Amino acid sequence: MERIGVLKERADRRVVVLSPAGVVRLAGKAELFVQRDAGRAAGFTNEAYEQAGAQVLDHEADVMTNANILLSYDHHYTGDPLAADRTFIGFFNFLGAPKRLPDYLNNGVTAYSLDLMPRTTLAQAMDVLSSVASISGYQAVLLAAERSLATVPMITSAGGTLRPANFLIMGAGVAGLQAIATARRLGAVVKAYDVRSASKEEVESLGAEFIEVEGAVNDHSAGGYAVEQPEVFLERVRERIHQEAKLADVIITTARIPGKMAPLLITEEMVMDMKPGAVIVDLAAASGGNCAVTQPDRTVMRNEVTILGPTSIECSCAHSTSFLLSNNYSTFIEHYLAHRERATEDEILRSTLVIQNGELVNERVRALATTTH
Ligand code: NAD
Repeated sequence: MERIGVLKERADRRVVVLSPAGVVRLAGKAELFVQRDAGRAAGFTNEAYEQAGAQVLDHEADVMTNANILLSYDHHYTGDPLAADRTFIGFFNFLGAPKRLPDYLNNGVTAYSLDLMPRTTLAQAMDVLSSVASISGYQAVLLAAERSLATVPMITSAGGTLRPANFLIMGAGVAGLQAIATARRLGAVVKAYDVRSASKEEVESLGAEFIEVEGAVNDHSAGGYAVEQPEVFLERVRERIHQEAKLADVIITTARIPGKMAPLLITEEMVMDMKPGAVIVDLAAASGGNCAVTQPDRTVMRNEVTILGPTSIECSCAHSTSFLLSNNYSTFIEHYLAHRERATEDEILRSTLVIQNGELVNERVRALATTTH
């Protein structure tokens, strides 16, 4: 029987990729080992894991020794020789952080990275990117509301009437749509922009106004993703958005292109023209940011505008994020156990397999590694 180990994340990550319910789900298929306190920050006790049927082990090295399949979210393997014949399943973001590759390559391990999941119907239940994006979009609105000097909904009281806040959402993918829905529920007036015209209908169905800018490059072979836009088009977007930015109390930016730097949508000049007390939450901070002023995981003030660049905002609702991750990972593991003998013929395994016995086998990651070295 397979031996699956769940590693504890670093303290600021707080999430765990398998909940006690996930242990119950996989119990008939594998022996399960969980590092002590791996779920604690997400609200899952060691006792709950034991009751679910897992063995709780004190140290990471114990889990590495006992298990041959190691699950993590953002755990960085640094080359313990004990783990040489191990399979790591995680959210390694090798496209965004290729410097991690050598640590995995040098030790003969196998690694599947779930951020490379194809966007197919079958893969939907394993789509960690969507889980993280949904929670991030929701949490970005709460963060902005908390940091804003103004309330979000219209409030009428004896002291007067407070007008509803104006939210501008840049990028209407999974995170952006969730941000729109959350801001609308809080009572904001919401406008949104995305380079994919297909998102217009989704934006409008959530009660937000779609900002149109003609002339975007769409590539249907990109699997539903946006592609890089020419600078002349991005300049036209910025000109249009500059007007909207002056009216916004909150801007949430979510625009990304897989494996590339995030497009620059909000310039410093635009920030300087925003209202004092306005807030920008830049969810693209980890890939360079959509706002010129953003600094990852820092709070920047410009002209009384607050710019936040959280890179792991999903970890602040650790219980809910872990619930979704656990379902994604459990489904992936069931799929992996059923199809791994023919990994190269299976689209899900082929797309997510990055390193096989120490060899870099993923075409997307190899292309990036070649261009960055
Ligand atoms: P993402 O995180 O890669 O990007 C976020 C958004 O930024 C996207 O909507 C993208 O169009 C937008 N963007 C990129 N460049 C921009 C620019 N210059 N200006 C404005 N916006 C820009 O994308 P995502 O949220 O992961 O979703 C991408 C697509 O995949 C969406 O159509 C989504 O509905 C779809 N999707 C499909 C599945 C599935 O079928 N299983 C699952 C999840 C998402």
